[in-house]
Amino acid sequence: MLRDDGRLMPLAGCTDVYVNLNFGTLKDTRFLNIWPLDELRRIEVRDGLLSIGALATYTRIIRSPLVRKRLPILAAASREIGGVQIQNRGTLGGNIANASPAGDTLPVLAAAEAVLVLKSAGGTRRVGINAFYTGYRKSVARRDELITAVEIPRLEGRQWFRKVGTRAAQAISKVVMAAVRAPRPRIALGSVAPTVIRLPKTEAVLEDGGSIEEARQTLTREIQPIDDLRSTAEYRRRVSGNLLERFWSETA
Ligand SMILES: Cc1cc2nc3c(=O)[nH]c(=O)nc-3n(C[C@H](O)[C@H](O)[C@H](O)COP(=O)(O)OP(=O)(O)OC[C@H]3O[C@@H](n4cnc5c(N)ncnc54)[C@H](O)[C@@H]3O)c2cc1C
Repeated sequence: MLRDDGRLMPLAGCTDVYVNLNFGTLKDTRFLNIWPLDELRRIEVRDGLLSIGALATYTRIIRSPLVRKRLPILAAASREIGGVQIQNRGTLGGNIANASPAGDTLPVLAAAEAVLVLKSAGGTRRVGINAFYTGYRKSVARRDELITAVEIPRLEGRQWFRKVGTRAAQAISKVVMAAVRAPRPRIALGSVAPTVIRLPKTEAVLEDGGSIEEARQTLTREIQPIDDLRSTAEYRRRVSGNLLERFWSETA
């Protein structure tokens, strides 16, 4: 149907789509409900990779022993998304496809170097999350493709996640950081640039044994936060640096 029926918007949990419908900002008028595709809810280990179906809800992710063991920061991020109602309906695939720079799972996937499985009637392709977004709310996904799963390689080293928002529930992030400590630190930030970003220069400073102060200064140059409804660029810069310090000391 995505190939043959013209412009159709996939509907998963609808938690983003309904907001846009209510605000009257949605251009699409024709929808394809993918919620009943149970095959896309599986969470399993396949060929050594943790594979999470795109329709896995946050509740399912929080309850999954596999996620809690292999990628506890994804369970931690899911616990802070919306409230229980949103966690019961909102999906990982929806968070990725919605492409908000404030999506809370995206820094986790970026730090974990997750690979997205994209399927269309024509075939399957895999795209690393760090090559998926091309600009503000833009990605390499085509309209005839569905995200079907996310594959995460085994991670070495301590994982760390922190969301900073106005309050613990029902608040969009002002800054969100996910990081993995070893052997090479991997640090990803949300809400400080048009897309989720990794911080390769900051990572390199820490890998080469530079001081945390030096890393902090590098981070400040690597991000491009803006002033908006939720926060200011200056606040986001300061807090990003504070989070970096916390990550480094708490995972030492
Ligand atoms: C009250 C409230 C609180 C929220 N709090 C948070 C929060 O704290 N943190 C956060 O990150 N988000 C939050 N959100 C946003 C939202 O819940 C998440 O982004 C959620 O993961 C979206 O998933 P969904 O299944 O509901 O997506 P949908 O609304 O169904 O779809 C969103 C977009 O993704 C596309 N899509 C969905 N699935 C696929 C797929 N498999 N393949 C291709 N395209 C697809 C749809 O076509 C649409 O464009 C909140 C939303 C609300 C209403």
